[in-house]
Amino acid sequence: MKARVVIVGGGVASLEAALTLRELAGDRAAVEIYSARSDFVYRPYAVGKPFGSAVLKTYDLPALVQRCGAELHTDSIVAVDAGARLASTYDGVSIAYDYLIFAAGASRQWPIPGATTFWGIAEVSDVEEVMARFEAGEIRRVAFTMPGVESWPLPMYELALLAEAELSRAGVENAELTVVTPEDAPLQVFGRGASEAVATLLAERGVEVISGTHPVRFHGGRLQVAPGDSLRFDAVISLPRLEGRAVRGLLHDSKGFVRIDDHCRVLNRERVYAAGDTTTFPVKQGGIAAQQADVAAEAIAAELGVPIEPRRFDPILRGVLWTGHEALFLQGWLGGGHGETSTLSEAPPWDEGEDKIVARRLAPFLAAIDAEHDVAVRA
Ligand SMILES: Cc1cc2nc3c(=O)[nH]c(=O)nc-3n(C[C@H](O)[C@H](O)[C@H](O)COP(=O)(O)OP(=O)(O)OC[C@H]3O[C@@H](n4cnc5c(N)ncnc54)[C@H](O)[C@@H]3O)c2cc1C
Repeated sequence: MKARVVIVGGGVASLEAALTLRELAGDRAAVEIYSARSDFVYRPYAVGKPFGSAVLKTYDLPALVQRCGAELHTDSIVAVDAGARLASTYDGVSIAYDYLIFAAGASRQWPIPGATTFWGIAEVSDVEEVMARFEAGEIRRVAFTMPGVESWPLPMYELALLAEAELSRAGVENAELTVVTPEDAPLQVFGRGASEAVATLLAERGVEVISGTHPVRFHGGRLQVAPGDSLRFDAVISLPRLEGRAVRGLLHDSKGFVRIDDHCRVLNRERVYAAGDTTTFPVKQGGIAAQQADVAAEAIAAELGVPIEPRRFDPILRGVLWTGHEALFLQGWLGGGHGETSTLSEAPPWDEGEDKIVARRLAPFLAAIDAEHDVAVRA
């Protein structure tokens, strides 16, 4: 009899896990996906939208899930009883499972009172409004910031670089663009080589960086920061603060993120795994979500008798930075023990293609669908 694998969530980690289970476990597993939404939004493209440099890609989730060989239920899961191997839906329906992968992502919260928030889905009009005021000469000094390092900082740098490119094209000369970041150096999470190359790029493009600085509140044209005095800006654009979406029955930290071990098993909960933004791993990125999904799916496949040695989570960070002129490819190992491997290059040093979510199976899967539908990567 097939094992019933329930995946909670319809995002990057969920789809990557379903593809990996289909490839590795085949007929040994029947995969069911429970998702609160019935679409799959390719969020990285949201950064290009305020500047007219990208279209937002949205996929029909039922069609994607069917192609993954899984079954979709558009329903939220609100509780997991690992002892009884039951998940409960919002409507109170109990679902029996043999294995469960929790991949519900993170929720986005208001980050800084007074700042314009870049939510990164469809609601980018506030950022468009800031750009319009910029181009009309009503404002001159804009800060791009984020509330904490537990997130994905790359869009903050892309917004600054894309704004600079857009303002140069529009002939706006006296713009002052600043990144205010809690990081010690730009994109330091990638390691020294890539971080230094990004710092050089920002300097060449005239984007100032104030590092080691937390934004607190924007009021009366002043951004309060810690540590330090307040800074004068006409507008502040911030990435949101992320919170976990843990449900009843799963161990989580004070921010709602789920604790996992090296095989992405939820601590002290048998046959329950978690992957992606919803876990306590501090880098909230699609490529990382996919690597965790692969680890969880491999562990389940091994438990189902597939003769493989399931890998431990040994994260490698891969990112694609849109600069307004070109795409740059950044890579760095996060786990240590690999030497100095941090690079920035003009072509991807990986095989998964040039698109922004570098995922072993999901990237080629989506690329094939895009090719069938003739989807432009960037407009
Ligand atoms: C502006 C922006 C740019 C980004 N750029 C990049 C990039 O260039 N490269 C990159 O790799 N990453 C990027 N990311 C990050 C990336 O989008 C996320 O890290 C990734 O989507 C996380 O995948 P996930 O599967 O954990 O969560 P998600 O993709 O958020 O999926 C979570 C899913 O769970 C569902 N859900 C939530 N709660 C429940 C519930 N209780 N029951 C059932 N379903 C539920 C949601 O509806 C959703 O379908 C970017 C993010 C933003 C906002």
